[in-house]
Amino acid sequence: MKHFYSTLNSSLRVPLREAVLKGLADDGGLFMPIHIPVLPLSFIEKLRALSFPEISYEICKILLSECLPDKELKKIVEKAFTFDVPLISVAPQIYSLELFHGPTMSFKDFGARFMAQLMAYYKKEDNKNLNILVATSGDTGSAVGDAFSQVEGMHVWILYPKGKVSYSQEKQLTTLGDQVTALEIEGTFDDCQRLVKEAFCDKELRGKIALTSANSINIARLIPQTFYYFYAYSQLKEHSLPIAISVPSGNFGHLTAGLLAKRMGLPIQTFIAATNINDTVPRYLQEGIFEPRPSQHTLSNAMDVGNPSNFGRMLDLYEHDREKMLLDIVGYRFTDDETASAIRDVFENYDYLMDPHGAVAFLGLKHFFENSSTPYSGIFFETAHPAKFANEMEQIIHKNIIIPNKLQDVLNKKKKSILLSTNYSDLKNVLLT
Ligand SMILES: *Cc1c(COP(=O)(O)O)cnc(C)c1O
Repeated sequence: MKHFYSTLNSSLRVPLREAVLKGLADDGGLFMPIHIPVLPLSFIEKLRALSFPEISYEICKILLSECLPDKELKKIVEKAFTFDVPLISVAPQIYSLELFHGPTMSFKDFGARFMAQLMAYYKKEDNKNLNILVATSGDTGSAVGDAFSQVEGMHVWILYPKGKVSYSQEKQLTTLGDQVTALEIEGTFDDCQRLVKEAFCDKELRGKIALTSANSINIARLIPQTFYYFYAYSQLKEHSLPIAISVPSGNFGHLTAGLLAKRMGLPIQTFIAATNINDTVPRYLQEGIFEPRPSQHTLSNAMDVGNPSNFGRMLDLYEHDREKMLLDIVGYRFTDDETASAIRDVFENYDYLMDPHGAVAFLGLKHFFENSSTPYSGIFFETAHPAKFANEMEQIIHKNIIIPNKLQDVLNKKKKSILLSTNYSDLKNVLLT
């Protein structure tokens, strides 16, 4: 049963298993569900009484029931989602959806843990060792490494840009044990992403080892990111105002997941694509030209993406029509200075500490409120725990940041990595030894 198509050729169709294990379609396109079911509002309202894993299971069943037995889907969400996703009231009509309560303290845990469980299920079927290749701008690597370190017969290779991730992020992704190898690349995140793409296009390499991708292009990471939009909605106490959700964006995975949730009938009026100065998508929305640029290093480093890999999916959802996209999405960009002042303001005025990524989303929401003539309920996504950026945060608020135990344990471990140039042949050699 083929339920997914390639964004480059809608007649290239594959089953879920192939979409998940391949990551990218053979023609280089991204996989998308052929059918997006539309749920009645009555169904969505019923979700209110449910926990996060229960909501996830309900949505999963509707999206994937023809792909896996319900019983397996239930096991997958229960193993993957063992932590809470609270919606916190920060200021009048402004809520923070805290997506950082998973094991590696960023929202990347949702996609990574769901994907790891799904791949573990498929792996049971054919019992071949798998290599997971993942480029990270900060948080993906540790989330994927952690999620897979519990799954037998999988080796994770993490490519990260040297000197461009925070101290804690680097510790988290270089201390994950024997099943996870950290490759420190002397380049940018875009170089890491390119190297991963080259490996996937290398037929000779793929003839020798089984490779799969764990980047946000993998549909198995995208699908679970729809679940917390439903959960956020279910936690809002009143639904009289239209809802705006501000999404701090880099590769545009979770924004795309939100667009899918809306297609499924979730009543979200507006999505705010909030970026740092790596503003390729806000520029596209404003000017109509998609012009990727090399990524620039910022405080919100997990969003330092010059060429967002999910953009193809966004275009596809709107039939390449920017006017249609503009009905649902507005885009804003913010500098590091603006981000730092937002962190200070919200800390001083509302006693809520945002990390730099959440702060960009908060700014997006604030800007949207200032520009809109009617009132909204606003949710911004808090995508990482502020302690992951303790050094940067302390310089901003001039106070010590309390480091949670699960992060402190990692900080005490010794970093282990392999330093590599941006030449593909170096990567290939390492993968083959
Ligand atoms: C990855 C990441 C983002 C950006 O998410 P995308 O799906 O790539 O747009 C935002 N915040 C944090 C903390 C992240 O790790």
